[in-house]
Amino acid sequence: MPVVRGVERCLAGIRTHNGFLNAFTNLRPAETLLKEAAEANQRILSNQPLSRIDGKIIAVKDNICTDDVPTTCASEFLREYRSPFQATAVTRLNTSGAIVVGKTNMDEFGMGSHSIYSTFGMVKRPPPAGQEDAPFRSAGGSSGGSAAAVAAELCDGALGTDTGGSVRLPAAYCGIYGLKPSYGMVSRWGVIAYSNSLDTVGVLARDRKGVEDIFNAISGYDAMDPTSLSDTTRDRIKEAIARRRGQNKSPLRIGIPLEYNLAELTSPILATWKHTLTQLSRLGHPIVPISLPMTKHALSTYYILAASEASSNLSKFDGLRFGTRSPLDWDPETQTLFAPTRKSYFGDEVRRRILLGTYSLSAEAMGNYFVKAQRVRRVIRGEFDAVFGLQNMLYNKAAEEAEDAEEEQEAAGKVDVLITPTSLSMSPRLKDVLAQRSPLDSYVNDVLTVPASLAGIPAMSVPVGVGEKVGMQLLAQFGDEEALFEIAKALE
Ligand code: GLN
Repeated sequence: MPVVRGVERCLAGIRTHNGFLNAFTNLRPAETLLKEAAEANQRILSNQPLSRIDGKIIAVKDNICTDDVPTTCASEFLREYRSPFQATAVTRLNTSGAIVVGKTNMDEFGMGSHSIYSTFGMVKRPPPAGQEDAPFRSAGGSSGGSAAAVAAELCDGALGTDTGGSVRLPAAYCGIYGLKPSYGMVSRWGVIAYSNSLDTVGVLARDRKGVEDIFNAISGYDAMDPTSLSDTTRDRIKEAIARRRGQNKSPLRIGIPLEYNLAELTSPILATWKHTLTQLSRLGHPIVPISLPMTKHALSTYYILAASEASSNLSKFDGLRFGTRSPLDWDPETQTLFAPTRKSYFGDEVRRRILLGTYSLSAEAMGNYFVKAQRVRRVIRGEFDAVFGLQNMLYNKAAEEAEDAEEEQEAAGKVDVLITPTSLSMSPRLKDVLAQRSPLDSYVNDVLTVPASLAGIPAMSVPVGVGEKVGMQLLAQFGDEEALFEIAKALE
């Protein structure tokens, strides 16, 4: 019974290591897991697996709704919250035969980069072999619990969410693979919204194949999510990719965005970036320097938009509609309802974001912040569209235009995949993160990941190098996850 043994091994691993790692918030009952494992085992033995991930053990970030264990977003507000329904991504895992082991720890509502802002306490990065006594390091955030669980082999893979880098950054810090799919590829139904125009459900695994298999299982149109990509659009994207690859049989062209070569990049990151490019060039991939001049505005744009949307999304947590109501609520003296509950149950970082967002959306600031940020976002997307040979099938006109000979010739010189580092540095020590004086110090960590989020394009962090792995980020045109997997494979 290999699947049953796999589940037993994971549960034993969780018992031994979760006390230290703090990767899980809630587990599904062991008997249920073992029963599901026995069923999966049966299917696999009789050569009738439901999918490539049948019997795989998958952890799910705690802002993705499951109907049998709480969904807490690592917030005191939702500590006891049980969703009456299940997220589509989780249902798709179930129907593919995967075994959902439990929910993973995170930054409250997905806001953070180190998984330290959790009502369950901070996540720690699994120490690489031989470094068990070294100071604790950051697992990255906000999907730090998912990354730590995968890296420590407490499960085969995990779902995370990536709004501005929350799958890619933890993947890089923990030395594993992390994919943020194109916006709309994977249904967001049942994912508690942080910033709905940026939120995506992502995948973490120890190898490229694992990511690909889980992604294929959860990706697909869902009528419950109004931003889910329709089957027609998915087909058009596939056709456009086939057309481009068909006419351009040579190895994928790799772009290096010069603006990502920041002075803050630390030496191991810079060295690995150079080494990766040399390796790809040896494999015959043309390496093309390209420019994305608006990159420098991406971080501020992201923090205005994400906070604005968050301030609106989080207004439903008032202790009446959603969340626990504080015994202090309804203060007869000040005649306030909600405020005492929100004050006691939201963490500091979440309250900071709500304030920031409420301000950006106020009549006085809207034109200068929110509206400008929306404009910058559009320009950033346009810059990506200009460097990729493949058309953006979401925004560009009909496919016939792509067949226009002149355009095709021009597209031939453009690139398929961009390569940048995922993070500025290796995983920092938690002690140093906690000693940071300003929350802005943490925001800076997202500088390399937010542009892809604003543009809605797919991005994947790939662990590269010998010894302690360094996260390299691959980016491709909207809908072209295939190109990411191809380059990730070349780097294996
Ligand atoms: N660190 C970023 C933030 O705090 C990204 C979070 C995310 O992708 N969920 O907003």
